[in-house]
Amino acid sequence: MNQVDYLRISLIDRCNFRCQYCMPSGVELDYILRQQLLTDEELLLLLREVFIPVGFTRFRLTGGEPLLRPGVVELVKAIASLPETQDLSMTTNGFLLAAKAQELYNAGLRRINISLDSLNPETFDKIIGDRVHSRWQQVWQGIQAAHQVGFDPLKLNVVIIPGVNDQEVLDLAALTIDRQWHVRFIEFMPIGNDSLFGSKGWVDSAQLRDRIRQAFGLETSQVRGNGPADIFQIPSAQGTLGFISQMSECFCDRCNRMRLSADGWLRPCLLNENGQIDLKARLRAGVALAELREQVRQLLVIKPEINFKQRDSGTTGNYTRTMSQIGG
Ligand code: SAM
Ligand code: SF4
Repeated sequence: MNQVDYLRISLIDRCNFRCQYCMPSGVELDYILRQQLLTDEELLLLLREVFIPVGFTRFRLTGGEPLLRPGVVELVKAIASLPETQDLSMTTNGFLLAAKAQELYNAGLRRINISLDSLNPETFDKIIGDRVHSRWQQVWQGIQAAHQVGFDPLKLNVVIIPGVNDQEVLDLAALTIDRQWHVRFIEFMPIGNDSLFGSKGWVDSAQLRDRIRQAFGLETSQVRGNGPADIFQIPSAQGTLGFISQMSECFCDRCNRMRLSADGWLRPCLLNENGQIDLKARLRAGVALAELREQVRQLLVIKPEINFKQRDSGTTGNYTRTMSQIGG
């Protein structure tokens, strides 16, 4: 069985974008009230006394938009300085990154994933739900800043939606030819986006690979990720192409992660809502840390039974939380 040692930590459920596939505009979201967010102290306590002792050593900060979390740089520093932290990374939309890239790097962050679904500013703004101000340029500057500061690997996350950005697959893949960047195509999932998923559908990774193979050639990469992505490369390209195929394939047997939401719910599987436990409520009710450790250990034991395979396949809108609320 795979060792589960990777925790994705949502720092905040709010976001400065409203990506159509994540927080569709028009859908009312109940944001977590500030007093319901795990505080920095509670998060660090849980990491030191609960997660690290049961075997978690790799952490990713996500959201919502993690750079909106007040004090995010200090938090990065605190997590990076825990002696047991073997890996600390962040997933961001990049909008606030140009100003923060150096500080984050100095605080100890080394790996970053930036979401970029389009190279076309108009399409980009349509996807992120802002038709008044163009945000693409600022995100692109954030990516350049992260590159210059030295984030390595620098990964770009792409969600392809038919009829929205599927015509850009080759352009996005071509970014890896001359740059040591890693572009990762994530299959579009039906989480909190009922009508978009229902009307557009999704494209599976195999189709994307075929298109890229026909245009540029494609080979299995020597680079191996330690996550769910299948890694390929355009021959002689400097960067790689990753495919995360949670819709078309089942990689539950390789799953090495759990998710902690910004309000302290620990979730064993992204696509199955069973088994979640409210660590914040327990912590605030005074439950002993030893007891919390035991409960997380138990969850690790039953995790293989709580997985994507068990979800109701093919249904949409079946999830009570959006990606921004879960911590994607
Ligand atoms: N705001 C940050 C960002 O966008 O990178 C971090 C949070 S976001 C929820 C994390 C990742 O989840 C992003 O790369 C985003 O593209 C992906 N995501 C969100 N909703 C998705 C969906 N319905 N299907 C597939 N990926 C999704
Ligand atoms: Fe915000 Fe990220 Fe969701 Fe887009 S994908 S709405 S940037 S949390």
